[in-house]
Amino acid sequence: MFFLIRKYLATMSIHCPFDDGKCQGQFVCQKKSTKTSVETDVWFIGCNRWWDKSKKGSHYFEKLKNDIDPILLGKLFNGDETVSNK
Ligand SMILES: [Zn+2]
Repeated sequence: MFFLIRKYLATMSIHCPFDDGKCQGQFVCQKKSTKTSVETDVWFIGCNRWWDKSKKGSHYFEKLKNDIDPILLGKLFNGDETVSNK
């Protein structure tokens, strides 16, 4: 839980670099399945306006480490969970 909250707060303190940091996107947790020898789910923190390529720059994108629960982190981003009542 500690790592997760630290990660959440660190992510909220930065801003998507797209369009010189004027991107209006929110950070979301997204899952991508890779099919290697075993099928594994890889989670990312990404900007939810990733599809917008009209301006220069690239949207925020970061692979999540294994010690972070992506479901819970996603809830924090969505506002379904809050840090303060934990
Ligand atoms: Zn963005």
